[in-house]
Amino acid sequence: MKIIKAYIYSMNIPLRHPFGHSSFRRSYSDSIIVKVVSSDGIAGFGEGVARPYVTGETTAAAVEHIRRVLLPAVMKIRIDTPVHDVLEYLNTVIPSPAADEGVIAWNAARTAVETALLDCYLKTHGQSLSAVLPRRNDAVHYSLVIGSGAVTAAERTAWLCRLAGITDIKIKVGGANDLKRIATVRKVVGGGVSIRLDANGAFDRDRALAFIDAASRYDIACIEQPQPRGAEHELADIMRRSPVPVMADESLVTIDDARRLIERQACGLFNVRVSKCGGIYNALQIIAHAEKNGIDVQLGCMVGETSILSAVGRHMAFHIDGIRFLEGSYGTFLLQHDIATKSIRFGWGGAARPLSSPGLGCDIREQSIRRYSRDILQVV
Ligand SMILES: [Mg+2]
Repeated sequence: MKIIKAYIYSMNIPLRHPFGHSSFRRSYSDSIIVKVVSSDGIAGFGEGVARPYVTGETTAAAVEHIRRVLLPAVMKIRIDTPVHDVLEYLNTVIPSPAADEGVIAWNAARTAVETALLDCYLKTHGQSLSAVLPRRNDAVHYSLVIGSGAVTAAERTAWLCRLAGITDIKIKVGGANDLKRIATVRKVVGGGVSIRLDANGAFDRDRALAFIDAASRYDIACIEQPQPRGAEHELADIMRRSPVPVMADESLVTIDDARRLIERQACGLFNVRVSKCGGIYNALQIIAHAEKNGIDVQLGCMVGETSILSAVGRHMAFHIDGIRFLEGSYGTFLLQHDIATKSIRFGWGGAARPLSSPGLGCDIREQSIRRYSRDILQVV
């Protein structure tokens, strides 16, 4: 397989409702879609979601990195490796230059290219991503996430969760009325549902400890990223003193981050997100490291991701042993339109089926990508 042409789409799809947390409030998605075309005329689609407050990448900078650095490197070579080592091979051919100032890692850019190449490669060989990530689990169950906002909005979503049989809920905290929102959600869903919190780095250490203490009376499973990235030594202190375990999200971008968090005993859980962590290969490395060190894993997602990253997440979810919490596959629950011909949203109870069609497992409606793209670049 040789890539002869590529396109980079910067997409904005409106969300059904604005979604917010303590770092940002958004009313549209902003995915970068990479399309690669092989000399055999086969197209592969990949996705990355750049977030300045997560990896340091802006969408514009990630697109430029893909255009200038990543695509020129992979368009020079033939990719004819066997299926069982295609992930490792792609990891060696996609460049990993040192990040520029302000960027932690070019992970969204890398993810868009890795997943596009993988989609094209698998379609070329008539294989599903499950040939690379064999299915090990019989069932998967997604969580629902309640964004920051009014108590009444949290209550509405909690009722939705209850009616939809959702058993894992995450509530964004770090804004106004947090305890009231948590109490309201707990009252609506009852005792059999797990509730976890995500502060997106909103607290300092003392506020975090006081908040966790007050929130823990509502039977909380864990708290995600109570302090911002950069305060990992204090995260370890919170982990020691908190009645509920700490999950690292913004503090966990690279494999070096994973090693440092484990060394410092700064958390009990990792939130591994494919786009944040630099693609499937890197995410699996981090997960292997977590497993070896007794760290539980949440397989997370990017808000507003399309069916491409959701399909990748689905294969990962069926492949990885012992995932504690699972997020993603929200599709048109969140987006006004998705770009796949067939929805891969989860269903009742958060359950979802495995995907088996060639490539990443979702059929792309290319005119939808074009319709929602504010910028299209062609690379030859
Ligand atoms: Mg988070």
